[in-house]
Amino acid sequence: MRWTKTLVATLREEPQEAEIISHKLLLRAGLIRRLAGGLYTFLPLGLRALRKVEAIVREEMDRAGALEVLMPALQPAELWEQSDRLTTMGPNMFKLKDRHDRLMTLGPTHEEVITDLVSREISSYRQLPATFYQIQTKFRDEIRPRFGLMRAKEFIMKDAYSFDVSSEAADASYKAMYDAYKRLFARCGLRTKPVEADTGDIGGSSSHEFMVMAEAGEDAVIECSKCSYAANVERAERRVTVAQPAGDTPATLKVDTPDVRTIAAVSAFLKVPPAKLIKTVIYLADNKPVAALVAGDREINEPKLKRALDAKTLEIAPDNIVTEVTDAPVGFAGPVGLSIPIYADLSLTNAADMVTGANAADAHLLHVDLTRDANVTAYRDISVVNAGDACPRCNGELCVARGIEVGHVFKLGTKYTEAFEATYQDESGKAEPIVMGCYGIGVTRVLQAIVEQSHDNNGVIWPVSTAPYAVGLLSLDPSDTAVAATVTELEAQLEAAGIDVLVDDRDERPGVKFKDADLIGFPLRVVVGAKGLAKGFIEIKQRSAVESVFAPPAEALETIQKTINTMLAELTAGQP
Ligand code: ATP
Ligand code: MG
Repeated sequence: MRWTKTLVATLREEPQEAEIISHKLLLRAGLIRRLAGGLYTFLPLGLRALRKVEAIVREEMDRAGALEVLMPALQPAELWEQSDRLTTMGPNMFKLKDRHDRLMTLGPTHEEVITDLVSREISSYRQLPATFYQIQTKFRDEIRPRFGLMRAKEFIMKDAYSFDVSSEAADASYKAMYDAYKRLFARCGLRTKPVEADTGDIGGSSSHEFMVMAEAGEDAVIECSKCSYAANVERAERRVTVAQPAGDTPATLKVDTPDVRTIAAVSAFLKVPPAKLIKTVIYLADNKPVAALVAGDREINEPKLKRALDAKTLEIAPDNIVTEVTDAPVGFAGPVGLSIPIYADLSLTNAADMVTGANAADAHLLHVDLTRDANVTAYRDISVVNAGDACPRCNGELCVARGIEVGHVFKLGTKYTEAFEATYQDESGKAEPIVMGCYGIGVTRVLQAIVEQSHDNNGVIWPVSTAPYAVGLLSLDPSDTAVAATVTELEAQLEAAGIDVLVDDRDERPGVKFKDADLIGFPLRVVVGAKGLAKGFIEIKQRSAVESVFAPPAEALETIQKTINTMLAELTAGQP
């Protein structure tokens, strides 16, 4: 392809609309353009890179034995009522009505559609296991669409769904997808880290997220500094050393704390460290009030609390409920005397001589012994892990890092198959629910994550597998006949060898061409100029390397082929 025949819309200036480097570079290198918040057009170069990511994903899904299908983005809302997700998905789901006033949704995901299909098409154990996948557009009305393709309202996802006869068989399907993910991300040139994840509204038992570790990531990841333990902060656990039962704590003492409400304010006012305070938060779990307690130097982990309560919905109670159950204004809640269920963090087991709210205006209690003074329903792990906490698997210390979730594998169990009566007949003719798994990859997010992980001050450094073009062939003197002939010859050779090449045939200064080549980030830059050619060589440089190599025109093709093959081999080295 010739530069002058396609649209290469590179930008010199920093785009104002972008905050993170990968978003800036996708705009500057001319890959995408914004239509409106969370909506992007792929320009020719961007679409080429996207198609390459899709091709790798497709190849690895096929290799793992998954079957490609294509489901409608537009879906009847009844399907979502059947799985009880029309409400739990909430405002994230785009809803609309057709001309017959029938409520429809634009699919944010496809568990409902695929399970409905499977309930009709699969009836016997002989048809299982089966995994279906599609690469398709998803719609989510995100609260904060941002960072370009990272969190968009319309994006491309690869979603796959496995169906098995038993939980053990489902584990094997899960493992096959997990391994396929490791391989396909590596082939895309992405370094990912699988981390344990929360299963959230989707239900089910086990789940991993594939994270690209990066400062710009929206997810907090807890990692052990010593072993391979890694988990999303929503899921992460820590090793808690439970205290021995306390001896004789003095009797509780009510003290005046006029208008002193927050942990920091109480700590300063009473001169007690936050760790000796108990934070009491009133929630509504399935619309019933419960109290959650953690030490004052910790935060409550709501996903964990929700799981501990086995609640469908969980929200902070509004002020009027807090006042009602504590008999005090907001800011003075405490466990002593509360008559609602109380869930305390595991680390508060046997906590004694603590400071808590007094359930009375402008007052706190000193010397609270939780076992003695409060009616705690259960002690559970409900707190957020902090940096420096003990690893749950080894004697290492936990630290906090940031990651971009590019993929997610879930074991779903029978939640959807039961809702859609997707059963199979076993060998004895008995009907059993099918056991399901689901597996997503944000294909457009992957594209941007590659750039987030691989760039320098001059632009993108594409892995050879996903670059818009593997080779940027720069013609420095397009009007020189020898240069033009060499470029045309090499272009034809490369194309015949199946290597995609973009020829910069513009009438521009070399400096402009070099700058653009670095910005776009061709893995290989090949330069043909009159001076070099007169000496009998053309220049070949890897985007990621400092030094160039020089080759006679007759050997250029072979050198380029070899370099590309080496780069491709490096991407899959050590993969399953
Ligand atoms: P997140 O936690 O980032 O909102 P999610 O857990 O809701 O993502 P899934 O339902 O697991 O996402 O979707 C599968 C994959 O789709 C994610 O791993 C992510 O890569 C991608 N994805 C999800 N939401 C978006 C979005 N708004 N824009 C682009 N990609 C997305
Ligand atoms: Mg997810």
